[in-house]
Amino acid sequence: MQTRRVEIRGGITARTVLSPTSGFIAEAGFTHSLTPARNCTFGCTYCYVPTMRVQGGLKPEDWQRWGQFTTFKSNADELLRRELRNHQRIYCSPLVDPYQPAEERERMMPRILDALTMAPPRVFALQTRGTLILRDLALLRALARRTVLRVSFSITTNREEVRRLYEPHCAPIAERLAAVRALRGAGIETYATLAPLLPCDPQELARIAIEASGRDLIGDALHVRSVKPRGATTRDAALWVAAVNGHGQWLDPIFQSEVIGRIEAAAGALGHSFTTGPSGFAKLAA
Ligand code: SF4
Repeated sequence: MQTRRVEIRGGITARTVLSPTSGFIAEAGFTHSLTPARNCTFGCTYCYVPTMRVQGGLKPEDWQRWGQFTTFKSNADELLRRELRNHQRIYCSPLVDPYQPAEERERMMPRILDALTMAPPRVFALQTRGTLILRDLALLRALARRTVLRVSFSITTNREEVRRLYEPHCAPIAERLAAVRALRGAGIETYATLAPLLPCDPQELARIAIEASGRDLIGDALHVRSVKPRGATTRDAALWVAAVNGHGQWLDPIFQSEVIGRIEAAAGALGHSFTTGPSGFAKLAA
């Protein structure tokens, strides 16, 4: 994992922290999303969020310098205490990783998990690729005793050299699999989420993900404009990495379908399923 200095901006006073869902996350069954910060210091090359621009609640500096800084909503936990209702199915977060590197210093998530435990929603799903989540294991266990808590941990490839190309600031795959095992061992319902699917050995990726989580797999291929003419899509940095490294077919919808079929077959042989799109993510919201 490459480490670097990132700028952490705090002190913005947000007016709201929970947003009613629309699109993909709403189709999956979530009623609200929780976004504790703007801009994500993982800075993945493929990240869809900066392509949403103002629709993603961003300012021009965010999409121009994606991953180089982040702005925390310093009053997120106070707002959450006011906005939580027991019928909500909350996805955290479609716009930032709650365990991005800057969270190590900011320590926003412990305050958010405390607020959730005090007034638990119907379902709370954490989407992350940050092994920092293990810092909060005791708080996660406390929340899991009060509501349905699910962790969706991104495992994007089995090939470490590919991970380094596309998501150099994220933890190595072996550390992420170890985090999935640790969460599972602590009794937290944890899914290995193959999204976005980066160049990989499909059978091996399915095997290691199921071995770690012990659950069905969910995931999604890299979004491409040819099948998704509007809305969020893969950002240019990943298209450039793919072109330079001869990975162009991983952005071809026909090839992507073949890969998904191979993962489905591999998961099936191990007694599990692999489901993509909103139907896959619906396992987190049910
Ligand atoms: S962790 Fe998620 S939100 Fe953050 S840069 Fe990567 S894809 Fe984007």
